Amino acid sequence: MSRTSDPATPAQAHEPGGAASADLLARYGDALMTTFGTPARALVRGEGPYVWDAEGRRYLDLLGGIAVNALGHAHPRLVAAIADQAATLVHVSNLFTSRVQVDLAEKLDALVAGDSGLGARVFFANSGTEANEAAFKATRRTGRTKVIAMEGSFHGRTMGALSLTATEAYRAPFAPLVPDVTWVPFGDADALAAVMDDTVAAVVVEPIQGESGVVVPPDGWLARARELCTAHGALLWLDEVQTGVGRTGTWLAAEHDGVVPDLVTLAKGLGGGVPIGACVGLGAAGDLLQAGHHGSTFGGNPLACRAALEVIAVIEEDDLLAHVTATGDWLAAAIEGLGLPQISHVRGRGLLRGVVLTAPVAKDVHAKALADGFLINAPRPDVLRLAPPLIVTREQLEPFVAALPGWLGASA
Ligand SMILES: *Cc1c(COP(=O)(O)O)cnc(C)c1O
Repeated sequence: MSRTSDPATPAQAHEPGGAASADLLARYGDALMTTFGTPARALVRGEGPYVWDAEGRRYLDLLGGIAVNALGHAHPRLVAAIADQAATLVHVSNLFTSRVQVDLAEKLDALVAGDSGLGARVFFANSGTEANEAAFKATRRTGRTKVIAMEGSFHGRTMGALSLTATEAYRAPFAPLVPDVTWVPFGDADALAAVMDDTVAAVVVEPIQGESGVVVPPDGWLARARELCTAHGALLWLDEVQTGVGRTGTWLAAEHDGVVPDLVTLAKGLGGGVPIGACVGLGAAGDLLQAGHHGSTFGGNPLACRAALEVIAVIEEDDLLAHVTATGDWLAAAIEGLGLPQISHVRGRGLLRGVVLTAPVAKDVHAKALADGFLINAPRPDVLRLAPPLIVTREQLEPFVAALPGWLGASA
């Protein structure tokens, strides 16, 4: 997995984007809707864990397209697989199938079902929110409508997934949303037990809340949620859009808790950057959506399926799950080992980490890191999120750890 990479020009300290970027960003401002605000940079290419902007400055990508670029940028195997598939068959609609689609469905079913002994079936979509729409519709086929969702949750921006997303600023402009959602504090077993009864269709959970700042629930909580769902005939629906596909050092984050869900949604890391989402139903949950209940023109097209198969193959063949665990543990220990009073602790698992600061300066740190050639983000005022490509090495991460004290105003 060690890939050569030319060091090129490091980003100039605190220098804003140059003329080429400024021109693109001005055109962006006129041509695109304002949904995302002003982009941080215009990027032109990537290789391994690095990307370059229009001025030729290099950045270490510790965000990975927000947990998407599992194999980094321009991974030779992914490039070759996509090119080969593009020259063979890109799209056929779901009136037809393809070998790569069936291969990927079987592979996902096996990875998700593990040794649970349950059969699994998959529905392919094109994004995380769409994978969740499929799961949400599947919950309605139980004959129940009540869904329990978590405070701090993020499940996507389409109307159904938004109805299960906690952030008020995302929800309020679009009310009324889908009704019959009950909210409980994330990680609170007693609160969950108090709202569970035999009218609950599903409990929807992120095993680690990513957008909310890489929040890990207490040990045993997910297993308790599983027990409560089983006791009340409710579906346990895990949104592993961010945590799945090796991000936390196992195929699913729920494996750490020994929990077998009924529904799992995947997307971000699955295609290594090619858009794909998947809703996997285990056992009876795989039969809830029947002919005519749901559909997608693009979902599961050969190009996306081939990319996902290649991502999974590289993770397996390069033993990346063990690498993610070792590298993530090293990174967390190295950051905590700085012993900075500005850092409270590092949370998360594998290569999904939140650096919790003792003051709400995450946005400022993010801006300084960007100026120095490091891409991270600030999902909360006091949390930095790190989700680098799964292929990143310690050696590549060391400059980030070394620079952190400077951005926090600490002497190294
Ligand atoms: C990013 C994310 C989504 C939404 O995925 P999109 O591809 O942006 O629609 C849903 N759930 C979780 C947990 C996510 O992190």
